[in-house]
Amino acid sequence: MATLEDPLRLVIGDKAAKRLNSALELQTVGDLLRHYPRRYETRGELTDLASLHDGEYVTVQAEIAKVTSRPMRNRRGSIFEATVTDGHGQLALTFFSRGRQDWRERQLAPGLHGLFSGQVSTFRGKRQLAHPEYELLSDGDGDGAHRAAEYAAQIIPVYPAAKEITSWQIADSVRVVLDVLDVADPMPRAIREAHGLCGLADALRGIHRPIDWADKDRATARLKWDEAFLLQAVLAQRRLAAVAYSATPRPRVSGGLLDAYDARLPFELTVGQDLAGTQIGDELALDHPMHRLLQGEVGSGKTVIAVRAMLQVVDAGGQAVLLAPTEVLAQQHYRSITEQLGPLAQAGELGGAEHATRVALLTGSLGAAARRRALLEAASGTAGIVVGTHALLEEKVQFADLGLVVIDEQHRFGVQQRDALREKAGEGRPHVLVMTATPIPRTVAMTVFGDLEMSTLTELPAGRSPIATHVVPAAEKPHYLDRVWERVREETAHGRQSYVVCPRIGGDTSDGDGAPGQDDGGPDDEDTRPPIAVLDLAAELEQGPLAGLRLAVLHGRLPPDEKDRAMLAFADGSVDVLVTTTVVEVGVDVPNATAMVIMDADRFGVSQLHQLRGRVGRGQHEGLCLLVTEAEADSKSRQRLDAVAATLDGFKLSRLDLEQRREGDVLGAAQAGRKSSLRLLTLLADEELIGRARHDAAELVAADPALAGEPALAAAIRVLLDQERAEFLEKA
Ligand code: ADP
Ligand code: MG
Repeated sequence: MATLEDPLRLVIGDKAAKRLNSALELQTVGDLLRHYPRRYETRGELTDLASLHDGEYVTVQAEIAKVTSRPMRNRRGSIFEATVTDGHGQLALTFFSRGRQDWRERQLAPGLHGLFSGQVSTFRGKRQLAHPEYELLSDGDGDGAHRAAEYAAQIIPVYPAAKEITSWQIADSVRVVLDVLDVADPMPRAIREAHGLCGLADALRGIHRPIDWADKDRATARLKWDEAFLLQAVLAQRRLAAVAYSATPRPRVSGGLLDAYDARLPFELTVGQDLAGTQIGDELALDHPMHRLLQGEVGSGKTVIAVRAMLQVVDAGGQAVLLAPTEVLAQQHYRSITEQLGPLAQAGELGGAEHATRVALLTGSLGAAARRRALLEAASGTAGIVVGTHALLEEKVQFADLGLVVIDEQHRFGVQQRDALREKAGEGRPHVLVMTATPIPRTVAMTVFGDLEMSTLTELPAGRSPIATHVVPAAEKPHYLDRVWERVREETAHGRQSYVVCPRIGGDTSDGDGAPGQDDGGPDDEDTRPPIAVLDLAAELEQGPLAGLRLAVLHGRLPPDEKDRAMLAFADGSVDVLVTTTVVEVGVDVPNATAMVIMDADRFGVSQLHQLRGRVGRGQHEGLCLLVTEAEADSKSRQRLDAVAATLDGFKLSRLDLEQRREGDVLGAAQAGRKSSLRLLTLLADEELIGRARHDAAELVAADPALAGEPALAAAIRVLLDQERAEFLEKA
């Protein structure tokens, strides 16, 4: 008998185990059984040959139509060619041999059905598999016998194929393993019964060797459930563990900085801000750490909420950290918080208010003296608020009494970084507030961010101006591009400012700052033309269409002080047009900027475009966003851009984004390793199932946090966590 943890070698022998390991990195029985078929073939239903792509390793079911054999022209030997068909298209199978191939001709007789496996290529306009592996689907000689039995079973699993291994070799190993499998079902009986789930052993057999479609569906349902449930059990345990940690309560103190700040605010809080602020304020007063995610569209006023939370902590004697994803943002936060606080942040200075605190900025690019000063202010507790980038995660940075960590734009920070910061709080743990402007669909929230509580700002502060978005098809209508630059000139003539965003920096071969497409959808196709670059375009615009305007460039390769200077110049209005990479993506706030031109917009993902667009329409004037693209009218890229142009609803767009990306990319970007555990589950389609699993898992874990009463479940979770950890370490 074999368990899921047993090495494959013990069950299927060295040779087969080695092959599975080198081709697919499958090492244990569990690894192999979780390598699910990609699809299934049914008897008589031939593979659609038109669906094959060059370069793919495929296994197809087809009928042999005709065979030919001829001697090679310049060498000894023969070429044997069998043409197979699905009834419409054809595929050539070619075999070269030093000798004659009469035996093959006898074997591959027209009319027979078979499975053929190999790499697709095109030769002289004909699709072919050169030297495919094959198995004929008819009764007969030895090896084909059990295949025939399987064939009679109607449904044949087709595995994701790889170079050194065929689908049926995988199926053979799976069969051996299934015959000796002995699994303890990790799912408690009560839960299985409540949801009408079959047993795990049954499910594993059913997904690999289904008797009929209902059998396969039952198996899939059960295995999906397990994916959702295990994940939710882990998250429930994390939430419980978090509650078990102690934190210093930071209750609201009246008559302190927070009250003074509220009195200085030039506007009323929105209802949503008020509500989120109260939730946060209450949780800060508890003796276990807050873990809250605050989501809201760009411009919905998250920063104000963060500042108020930080001031509550400072009033209560603690310190707060605000972590930003980029240097530009850290500096902007620093400036705007210092400004908003005014005398409240001028402790020890002339004109500083009573109880005033200080705000320190700590980024990677500080000069030695400034850095020393900031480190000292953090360590001594003089600075109640420390703003910075990931430089804050360094070991040298110490705090006197860190009470709150605010992380702006979570999607750039992983769990590991959150943990690194938490550790700086000494014995207790700090409260954590995560802010994101990328709206998160509910299921993603329940999975990727499942260990956080959630506040959502649904409304924008009053007085926001609408943003009009248009797709500019530069390839079809080149003169539209002239019109784009005219519009920019018009904005300038009205005293307003514009952004021009490019995917690349230029000047050498390097990529852009945000590596567009990499974490956000990506370009559909490879272009011969490199993406438009900031440096090239800026030079062109300066000479041509935008001559006479005040242009500045901003990108990640500029020295920090130049970056800061460019941003400042744009913020104070002494620059008309900022030509930039995606460093302006998140959080940058210049209300007088009204136009956003995005070049090669098809190279950015949906969410990223939405984020970029959020940079305009922040003041009293209407915003304009122009998505310039050479993508063809009916292409996927164009559809994506049209969708962005059609709505300002971030939730809709993030759903679309999710639909178009592989789940693993979504999960992987946000949380290392999470990828490996989701194979069948899809976040959008299985929303209801995830909700049920979350509910049941939370209930079970609440009653038995260590799952002592469910050893098989506890073991399955351990395996999952080990995989995650291993994958994370590999990446790091
Ligand atoms: P976010 O970080 O969510 O993108 P910010 O906090 O930067 O948004 O807010 C955007 C702008 O709106 C800022 O200039 C801020 O001062 C302003 N603002 C925030 N809350 C309100 C409000 N309730 N009423 C009016 N303006 C607000
Ligand atoms: Mg912000």
